[in-house]
Amino acid sequence: MAAATALAVAVLLYAPGPLRLSTLLVALLANQLGGIAPDIDQPTAPLWRNLPEGHYVGKVFGKLLGGHRFISHSLLGLVLFAWLTNLALHALHPIMPHVDIQLVWWAFVIGYVSHLVMDTLTKEGVPWLLPVPYKFGVPPLRRLRITTGKFMETLVLLPLLVGFDIWLFASHYNHFTGILKTLVR
Ligand SMILES: [Zn+2]
Repeated sequence: MAAATALAVAVLLYAPGPLRLSTLLVALLANQLGGIAPDIDQPTAPLWRNLPEGHYVGKVFGKLLGGHRFISHSLLGLVLFAWLTNLALHALHPIMPHVDIQLVWWAFVIGYVSHLVMDTLTKEGVPWLLPVPYKFGVPPLRRLRITTGKFMETLVLLPLLVGFDIWLFASHYNHFTGILKTLVR
């Protein structure tokens, strides 16, 4: 949700010009993947829950990445994942030659950053500056922050995001439909 919201805002700020349908679809997928990628360090992440034996694979990844909310939840992890995604996109480009992989890469990065920003609002905080071991949070007072998966997150933050999305879409309706109209195959 946060990933898609961030992507929509980015699209408004930096109008990407005529888009291909294939680019749009792959970018939306990459955006969602970017939004869940940081949590591959957690055996209970959606990615691992939905794979057979994924729980165990998740545990291995969690160990490799230093446990939950560690490397994958930092600027270092962002650079690492962005680099790997860039490699993967270049490797995949021959089988999807019409897809603008640079836009897809941005969609992934935007999804990834939005995840870290949302996690920053929670009690655990985010170790943005690893190897500096301090976990940053907003607001700085820990007890004012949100508990992951609790009341505040599902009943306050999610409706706020949905409300913002509806407002964003309604107030920029022509802009969004304009982009859809210029979609080329
Ligand atoms: Zn996370």
